[in-house]
Amino acid sequence: DALPQDPITENYTRQVTGAAYSLSQPLVFKNAQVIHVSKLAQELGFTNEEVQSLAFKNIVTGQEFPDGVAPYAMAYAGHQFGNWAGQLGDGRAINLFEMLQHDQRWALQLKGAGPTPYSRSGDGLAVLRSSIREHLCSEAMHHLGIPTTRSLSLSLSGDQVLRDMLYDGNAAHEKGAIVCRVAPSFIRFGNFEWAAAQGNPEYLKQLTDYTIKTFYSHITTTGKEAYLQFFKEVTARTLDTIIHWQRVGFVHGVMNTDNMSILGLTIDYGPYGWLEPYDHGWTPNTTDRQNKRYRYGAQPEIGLWNLLQLANALYELINDGTALEEILNDYKANYQSQYLRMMQSKLGLQTSQENDQELIATLEHHLQLHETDMTLFFRELSLVEPQMDADKAFVTISMAFYDLENISEPHQWSWLEWLERYLKRLQLEQDALGMDGIAFAKAKQQQMNAINPKYVLRNYMAQLVIDDADKGDYTLLNDVYKMLQRPYDEQPEFDKWYDLRPDWARNKVGCSM
Ligand code: AMP
Ligand code: MG
Ligand code: MG
Repeated sequence: DALPQDPITENYTRQVTGAAYSLSQPLVFKNAQVIHVSKLAQELGFTNEEVQSLAFKNIVTGQEFPDGVAPYAMAYAGHQFGNWAGQLGDGRAINLFEMLQHDQRWALQLKGAGPTPYSRSGDGLAVLRSSIREHLCSEAMHHLGIPTTRSLSLSLSGDQVLRDMLYDGNAAHEKGAIVCRVAPSFIRFGNFEWAAAQGNPEYLKQLTDYTIKTFYSHITTTGKEAYLQFFKEVTARTLDTIIHWQRVGFVHGVMNTDNMSILGLTIDYGPYGWLEPYDHGWTPNTTDRQNKRYRYGAQPEIGLWNLLQLANALYELINDGTALEEILNDYKANYQSQYLRMMQSKLGLQTSQENDQELIATLEHHLQLHETDMTLFFRELSLVEPQMDADKAFVTISMAFYDLENISEPHQWSWLEWLERYLKRLQLEQDALGMDGIAFAKAKQQQMNAINPKYVLRNYMAQLVIDDADKGDYTLLNDVYKMLQRPYDEQPEFDKWYDLRPDWARNKVGCSM
């Protein structure tokens, strides 16, 4: 109740004081049009008729709401690219309402429906390009089994939006779009950093108590114990999600603390990308090409850095630096063991053997010797069996190399050497499990294919979907969406997507705006 009861309602951009949120109305879009609705609609309990209805369209395009709905934008703060950025907030997201479905809480939020007091220099709008990328990727991540915010729908706003094209630097008009994002909560680390920076300890306590009561309700202790437990669980969830990213080769691209969900969900699909050639140094973020702060290989340590900022924000409630530090140290230890377990399972290894860590480190080195497609490599590796010789194994994985013709001899020898070791390790695994060759090969393939996806949203695929959608053709959007719902399954009708990134798409990355 220390928070003001009467938040300011105007939408002009400003420094907001004394309020954690501001009421914000979406703009009027007379010609808005829903172009895709995800399967999430069913999970939320909407019938097909409801999805087709005017009422549904009006909600997901921000035009009309059930009585009592008061759309608002949240204030948050955060560290961007390592620096304190002060007040941020939902600059192009407007929260609508929460609904309960089978005891699960879902918050609906529109991205791109107009400005809020937190829009800073932006217009609060989104273009079709970035909205397609967010809509498809959030759902793809969900179907990969990775904690994420969801996307219910993708709509055209009916207006044009002015944007700098990142490719050629020219300003251009693009179709405006609105995504209806859904998550149990959109609260971020940045909300806690905002609260801690207000100079009113009551704000931080209210926010933390609310978050625990609503989303970590199994925590039954109170006071310092509860806050420490909460921080520990946020740490565990954050690590879990980042390990998943490393598993599938997802690079977030903007891991600022305002893009870190307090529920450990993947949030804010901006300049994200997927590894094609395996490369620890790769980032899809063109504004981060110099420092590569948010490169693939750095994501786990950036997660830790962000958790440290959250610890700083929560400090006032806990006043025990040693206890917080212990939790952060556990993150490092848990990362080592969870990463190892994850990589072992990518290799089809269920038992742990002495030299596994080294086998994996060598593999990571080899994957970067010569452009090797991460998704294809691990999928093809499931076909390698202990009875093979290294040459046959090399042929088996060879479709993963971008330029097989020109792979140098030393690199090929290195690969043969590694494969030799891997084959021996597989034999050890088969013996340890006491299986015969046929049963082992089958079980191994099944296990590997359940965690090494066959179909991911490669950047060029999203681009092709965007190009067609821009012309009003949504066939590919529907196709790709369908494919991404079963990323681990063999789907022969989509086999043309199970291939190396085509040459024309080299060095093309997604855009964040
Ligand atoms: P991001 O890097 O996407 O997390 O954005 C950083 C901040 O800029 C957030 O507060 C966003 O809400 C805000 N922002 C990004 N794009 C826009 C936009 N087009 N209009 C207004 N605010 C924006
Ligand atoms: Mg953001
Ligand atoms: Mg963003």
